Amino acid sequence: MTENEPHMPDFVVIPESVDQLVLLIKFCNQNLIPIVPYSTGNNVGGLTIPDCGGIIVDFGKKMNRIINVDENMMYAVLEPGVTFGQLNKFLTKKYPHLRYSYPNAPPYAGVVGNALLSGMTNLGAKIGSMADSINGLEVITSDGDVTRIGSCFYGKGEAEADSWWSRYPMPDLLGLFINFQGMTGLVTKCSVQLWPKEPIEKAQLVLFFGLTDVAPFLREIGKADIINDIAAFSVEVAKMEIGIPEPKRYPGEPPYTAVMPMSAKTEKQMEAKLEILENIIDDLNKKGTNIHLINYNEFSKLFNLKARNIYDLPSQILSLHEYSGLTWFGAYAPSHKFEELIEKTDELYYKHDVPPYNYIKIMKGGHYGIFRPIFRFKKFTDQERIVKLLEEIVDVCIDLGCIPYKTPSWITAKMRKKINPGWLKLFEKIKNCMDPNNIFNPGRWNT
Ligand SMILES: Cc1cc2nc3c(=O)[nH]c(=O)nc-3n(C[C@H](O)[C@H](O)[C@H](O)COP(=O)(O)OP(=O)(O)OC[C@H]3O[C@@H](n4cnc5c(N)ncnc54)[C@H](O)[C@@H]3O)c2cc1C
Repeated sequence: MTENEPHMPDFVVIPESVDQLVLLIKFCNQNLIPIVPYSTGNNVGGLTIPDCGGIIVDFGKKMNRIINVDENMMYAVLEPGVTFGQLNKFLTKKYPHLRYSYPNAPPYAGVVGNALLSGMTNLGAKIGSMADSINGLEVITSDGDVTRIGSCFYGKGEAEADSWWSRYPMPDLLGLFINFQGMTGLVTKCSVQLWPKEPIEKAQLVLFFGLTDVAPFLREIGKADIINDIAAFSVEVAKMEIGIPEPKRYPGEPPYTAVMPMSAKTEKQMEAKLEILENIIDDLNKKGTNIHLINYNEFSKLFNLKARNIYDLPSQILSLHEYSGLTWFGAYAPSHKFEELIEKTDELYYKHDVPPYNYIKIMKGGHYGIFRPIFRFKKFTDQERIVKLLEEIVDVCIDLGCIPYKTPSWITAKMRKKINPGWLKLFEKIKNCMDPNNIFNPGRWNT
């Protein structure tokens, strides 16, 4: 679905074991053959397109086992091909009191790929980036060495099954593999944190009648520690979700809406959380916003499963799959700039006659935000027009300090012009040290 140019690999390898991969990496390193790691290929940024040919290593077909779940320490050790749907089904059946955290990605997208790329999910307001939820990794580096990182690092042979519980406090070598887009080695196991599943779950719908009313609300709700997540989006998106493919915003309609999954251990705790939520809205409205709260369960009855889909994750979200093309500027964002980001992107959408599709979140107790303009398009007729708009949005958002994730190389090229030279030098040094022959996913981050 991506706007990035397609390219065929020369071969696809479907590995079954670490031993096979060690042989493959040694062979590729000797013969200078590119290796592109691929879990399920759902990153949207074209990051598994083998721009220089070579071998795609497809983990999704056979290295897709849930190796172990530790109930006490609340983690799961996964092979790279495990999908969100698979993990959700497994936990629901065997560990119903535990949960993972899910993005808006389809159930067939990969858990490990998402965590390695700092994905953001429906516990984001509490736990932040999914990379923070990684406890440990097993990796193969360019010389064919197999390394375990995290608390699983003790022991000369296999790791103890119950040893994958922490990333710290040793030097944090895990960072060598996070957001590197497969450029530093192959991850063969990943331990991700799980969380208790609370028995009381309620979702709330919030309507924002002023264009930027959503911004102060996101900042306040982030600090309040009462929601699991918030998905604030342009009202056009809400309309798409209930089946209007090319919606318009009419005068008087709220330009933004938000869905907030909340959970609690008891009804009383939920009542207290709802009281705090109402107080936040009252206080903001006294200062001039126009924000309304609606019980989402009641609202969704009007639209049945279509409306539940958007927060009952993982699911196939209608508006993201309706067209043949999908792309976005998915960025970590400074939340004090939300107002400016909303106003400037709104202007650009209208200039290009494209319905606004912004998706905004607050993360990790209010410490930072997510700002994600999304574009669905008809790939064979509309791509050029949409990419033009995307480019303008990228420039505005990067100028305001946004940092895109899952970044295609045409965007990293723009970022490189703004990143401080010291960072770029260190980045190149690390890449050269980890992968001197540049065999791992060459071309990413313009390497
Ligand atoms: C409709 C839609 C909606 C989405 N919504 C969201 C959302 O709300 N939040 C969010 O965070 N994401 C979202 N995503 C993106 C998606 O969650 C993740 O990017 C995806 O799960 C990544 O996993 P993957 O298996 O597809 O990885 P891939 O696309 O296969 O790979 C991703 C990157 O990791 C590298 N890689 C893969 N496997 C390995 C390995 N074993 N070792 C080293 N490197 C490796 C690849 O080379 C590539 O650079 C969405 C995607 C779609 C299609």
